[in-house]
Amino acid sequence: MIKILVLNSGSSSLKFQLFDMQGAESNHFNLLASGLVERIGETNSSASLKFTSSKAHDTVDKLAQKKQLVRESPVADHQQAIETMAAMLKESGCMVSMEELTGIGHRVVHGGEHFHDPVVIDEQVLITIKKLIPLAPLHNPANLTGIRLTQQKAPGIPQVAVFDTSFHQSMPEQAYIYGLPYALYKKQHVRRYGFHGTSHQYVSKQAADYLGKSISELKLITIHLGNGTSAAAIQYGHSIDTSMGMTPLEGLIMGTRCGDIDPAIPFYLARETGMTIQELDDLLNKESGLKGICGQNDMRTIVEQAEQGDNRAELAITIFCYHIKKYIGAYIATLNGADAIIFTGGIGENSSLIRERACQDLQNLGINIDSQKNSLHSKEIMEIQGPTSQVKILVIPTNEELEIAIQTIKLI
Ligand code: ADP
Repeated sequence: MIKILVLNSGSSSLKFQLFDMQGAESNHFNLLASGLVERIGETNSSASLKFTSSKAHDTVDKLAQKKQLVRESPVADHQQAIETMAAMLKESGCMVSMEELTGIGHRVVHGGEHFHDPVVIDEQVLITIKKLIPLAPLHNPANLTGIRLTQQKAPGIPQVAVFDTSFHQSMPEQAYIYGLPYALYKKQHVRRYGFHGTSHQYVSKQAADYLGKSISELKLITIHLGNGTSAAAIQYGHSIDTSMGMTPLEGLIMGTRCGDIDPAIPFYLARETGMTIQELDDLLNKESGLKGICGQNDMRTIVEQAEQGDNRAELAITIFCYHIKKYIGAYIATLNGADAIIFTGGIGENSSLIRERACQDLQNLGINIDSQKNSLHSKEIMEIQGPTSQVKILVIPTNEELEIAIQTIKLI
């Protein structure tokens, strides 16, 4: 059995999934366990693990109906979180010791310009990830801690870093250089990097498989709508533009992040209100987007409130969809036409309303949705364009952890 553990270490959380991989293909896997340690360092930490021992082709949702372990005791730090993870995996019977693992894959948020592809982790890789901390001050330190601790716990097991940014390293200069003094790019590394790369890459490969075409002949627009949202223009398997920028703040409107705004707004607010840099940072990252417009950042709640007649919730949905539509238009131009638009992420996979409104009145671009097909719910890939649409519209469940497992197995 080829066992791959995938870790996503956040500043106060640890997500992990254990896969039994039968090969480096997206349909050759068995998800053995999926867990989360939350609120690390706080008194109300909790850890949960959903697991199965069946050999069936599985998904997290199927796991949800299966067995679950929960622990509600304080987890002081990441060291203890890794211990908790190992203990729960042992208790579930899915993994007796970390020595059984074939490899460990880590999600690392920022790979800067250094990493165009996933890499096997060695000391030099760790030094580079550390050097990139200024570009991702919240994420890269947590990712590094996760790597160091698993290296100690499982010495000798090969570990791989998969970067959120690396898939977008194929962007041409015209997409990643900002209209700023060029020296800022050279000296301070100010440029568009893009994020959610693992998801954009995964769903674009899934789309090619589904359409029965080679990825090298397809022009795709992938739209990831979760708490964070981003769109990407993917030409023949390579990202040529994406909406998130130097940080994940730019682009589409998100749950709490503002997306594209006039860059002069923070200066205006600082002058008029005396807000500090930290306050402005918090405003744009944590108090803006859907939450800023209607007070809620969870799309399910917003849709419910709009249905009950809440005008601000309705406005938030309208703006959210309008921004997606503008990016579809932009990327149709960037790609000179697209074969398919792909919706993914919690909102993209589950909200027919958002998909319908984001694709409204685009028939002159050869895009229209079939309302009846769009209203269906499925965990499988759905094709929802109307009969006269020249562009396919697909709903594809993303699976970033599986993509990390696939990349890990490929490298080791
Ligand atoms: P993350 O980016 O944290 O991984 P997800 O991809 O799970 O998050 O997306 C979370 C978002 O998906 C939330 O805004 C949630 O309300 C939304 N969502 C999930 N199911 C639905 C649904 N049926 N209708 C509308 N929004 C939904």
